[in-house]
Amino acid sequence: MLKDESLVSSWQSFFEENCKSEIETIALEYPENRSLIVDYWDIDKADPKLTETLINQPYKALFNAEEALKNIDVAAEHKLQLHFRVDNLPDTQKILIRKIRANHLGKYTAIEGLVKKVTEVRPKLQVAAFQCQKCGAIIKIEQEEDILKEPSECYEDQGGCGRISSFKLLMNLSTFIDSQKIEIQENPEGLRGGAQPERISAYIEDDLVGMLAPGDRVIVNGILHSQQRRRGPLRLTSFNKVVDAYSTERQELAFEEVEVTPEDEEEIIKISKDPDIYNKMRQSIAPTIYGMNIEKEALVLVLFSGLSKKMPDGTYIRGDIHILLVGDPGTAKSQMLSYMSKLAPRSIYASGKASSAAGLTAAAVRDEFGEGQWTLEAGALVLADMGIACIDEIDKMEETDRSSMHQAMEQQEISVAKAGINATLKARCALLAAANPKLGRFDEFIPMHEQINMPPALLSRFDLIFSILDKPNRETDTALAAHILRTHKAGEVSENILRSRKSEHTKEEQDGLMENVMPIFTPEFIRKYVAYAKRNVFPVMNDDASEVLKNYYVDFRSSSEDSVPFTPRQLEAFVRLAEASARVRLSEEVTVEDAKRAISIIDQYLRRVGMDRETGKFDIDIIATGISHSQHERMRVIIDVIKRICDESSDGNAARSDIVSEAEIQGIESSKVESALDRLNRNGQIYEPIHGKYRLAE
Ligand code: ADP
Ligand code: MG
Repeated sequence: MLKDESLVSSWQSFFEENCKSEIETIALEYPENRSLIVDYWDIDKADPKLTETLINQPYKALFNAEEALKNIDVAAEHKLQLHFRVDNLPDTQKILIRKIRANHLGKYTAIEGLVKKVTEVRPKLQVAAFQCQKCGAIIKIEQEEDILKEPSECYEDQGGCGRISSFKLLMNLSTFIDSQKIEIQENPEGLRGGAQPERISAYIEDDLVGMLAPGDRVIVNGILHSQQRRRGPLRLTSFNKVVDAYSTERQELAFEEVEVTPEDEEEIIKISKDPDIYNKMRQSIAPTIYGMNIEKEALVLVLFSGLSKKMPDGTYIRGDIHILLVGDPGTAKSQMLSYMSKLAPRSIYASGKASSAAGLTAAAVRDEFGEGQWTLEAGALVLADMGIACIDEIDKMEETDRSSMHQAMEQQEISVAKAGINATLKARCALLAAANPKLGRFDEFIPMHEQINMPPALLSRFDLIFSILDKPNRETDTALAAHILRTHKAGEVSENILRSRKSEHTKEEQDGLMENVMPIFTPEFIRKYVAYAKRNVFPVMNDDASEVLKNYYVDFRSSSEDSVPFTPRQLEAFVRLAEASARVRLSEEVTVEDAKRAISIIDQYLRRVGMDRETGKFDIDIIATGISHSQHERMRVIIDVIKRICDESSDGNAARSDIVSEAEIQGIESSKVESALDRLNRNGQIYEPIHGKYRLAE
């Protein structure tokens, strides 16, 4: 028997002494509010024997505690039947999902992780009412398992006839409870390089349902037990681990995991005053990767991020900085992403080629997990909420992700509406993506969106796009080779000292070699520094800095007459970068220095990918639509020419030679007319009914 009178009375005196007023408050809102949540340490302080049974015999402890709660005398309209929930368990009860072993089963445990999936909330039979088909008596059976338990006879103690009979389930006399199943995945921080995260299912009931969404960081406190696996109607001998959740705690703040002590704070403030802080930060990012200085400088700013803002009209402006690295294979793009995902808290490294149904964003799926119900599953951007989503080979993403990606990058939310599921998930993360060119190598002379299989509208949502070319160059090749060889040698010497039985290498030699791959600040220190800055520093731009950005923007737009150099979206990128730059110094003010840093980074990016090859001017149209403004104008003229010739001709076609000569009169070189015709033809804007003759597509 579960009931234990002495345990009931211990709990009762604990509640009387510690929770009386809280229970009275709950009584006022009963039954909407029907859970008493108590801190583990409050119980432990009052009566350590109670916490001991709670940990080791949780079913017994919780049953008797809930019995005791029925005896607490408070003024209430209804007779109270409260759930008793304990949270804030000691660290000894916090178990990593991959470390769960048989001896943890049946214990009250805390499991920390990310919510990967949630099913719909569904009613579950709690007490089933059956009617005996022989005598009509109503027999009630408490349901504890997934499979419906029927009475084996018409029980006399419930007023039945005592015979073996058949029974009919009466829905309206049965009682139901809301239930939900969720899947928790290990936190990425706990994972060792590249390991697949492990998962565990948790069952949630009654007033706890519907509180968690995919992507939430949670601690689920509950009882671990095993659940027999089934294949169809067959029961297998292997078991799954599951948790019956008794309470859940949600962790809201990013960087909450990173502890900053007062000593750390002192150190951080001291270092923030170093005039060389930007260089030192940059040199601490992936020191084994040679060069890429501008990319690394931008990545420092990604770590610190701009300020996200909520406007009074309800609009949301993101502060996270999105970066895309495009380039030749073997230029350390993947390496950089994987480094960043380990450096930044709450980060996820994933490949665009989805490994799960949820892909990069989120999806409603119907799979084994939901046991016939729809399940909402989080993809990488949702799991990286409040962190950085490092997505490699983003060009290979699924078609279904593309549409939600726009919303994810700008509003930082992902909506899923399918079947019974209608949800909006948070994806407040910076996106650091890498893409390989379709043709194997990056060609500077072909528009970006034709090369990387991504729609221009999506490309324009990146604050920065860096193209990384692998062009032979004696000078940089020598330096890169030296760097890589030296890095490898440092590794060899270190392994040799560590493992070789008679090593002739010395620690000094190793230190000397390691010198140029040692970060100036350790990853741990950077995490603390960034956490401190993001928690405490919210810089405001001063007038001079605004002026600098405004002038740059206006000058740029007016200097490039017929090309469109920037859109307001680029201006927002400037602001984000400048804010992040101020945060690096822990400055409360965004100054001219920060504005100039933002300009210098964006300038480099536009120089590399936004240049109109023909006019030598920056042109954001190249990124946004794939063709420059001047090309666009030219195509319009040519279409006009074709239209006119077609109208005037007898057969309604325009001969290629006529188009070329007519366009030349309008000032377009013949070679450009030819290439424009090819492009129009490819785009389906014109077609060639007879060889060498064109018509406009309707
Ligand atoms: P990508 O993803 O761009 O195709 P990878 O990240 O897989 O390239 O890099 C290929 C290899 O080349 C890695 O082992 C990486 O360390 C090395 N490598 C490439 N460029 C550099 C560099 N600039 N500095 C150091 N190592 C590099
Ligand atoms: Mg790669």
